[in-house]
Amino acid sequence: MKLVFATHNLGKLRELQAAFAPLNATLIAQSTLGIESAPEEDCTFIENALTKARHAALESGLPALADDSGLLVDALNGAPGVHSARFAGLQATDSENRAALLRALADTPEPRTARFYCLLVFIRHAHDPRPLISEGVWEGHILTKERGDQGFGYDPLFGVGGGRSAAELRLAEKEAVSHRGQAVRGMLQLLRSL
Ligand code: IMP
Repeated sequence: MKLVFATHNLGKLRELQAAFAPLNATLIAQSTLGIESAPEEDCTFIENALTKARHAALESGLPALADDSGLLVDALNGAPGVHSARFAGLQATDSENRAALLRALADTPEPRTARFYCLLVFIRHAHDPRPLISEGVWEGHILTKERGDQGFGYDPLFGVGGGRSAAELRLAEKEAVSHRGQAVRGMLQLLRSL
């Protein structure tokens, strides 16, 4: 099966290509096909992921896979949520987003409970009325200062127990427990049962 992955992030593409290899599926990034990103304007992960998948399927004529993910902090009523990539502004870097998160939680005592969430959707075609949906949740808490230099995004501030942050885990360790790892394994099962 040939399918388009609605991403411009080649790191994500490589991770998913490896995970999907046993399915005999060829994943093509939409950027490789010259397809522009769909706007992420909705207020839920599922809406954003479906918008991205539909756009990619419509433009490519192929089945499409899309993901959406973010960090939800209890003391901030689930923020930054769908705005995780742009918490500190539209063009914000990961480090600016982390600084904004520490500022927003400056008066919040520990434990500052939080979770990463990832949702993956697969549609057979742009008008598929029954998308396959898989999700993953990774519970943790927000540290008071950064730790570790692995990973990306909020990983250095995401406490995972044992005094470690997500940025102190090796990639394989992270994938075994992370929101994205869970969602990918769930999607593989759904696709196998098609
Ligand atoms: P998107 O799913 O590519 O739109 O990513 C949303 C944003 O959520 C990222 O830019 C990160 O800020 C954050 N995020 C999602 N997953 C992770 C993760 O595994 N570690 C750290 N940050 C993450």
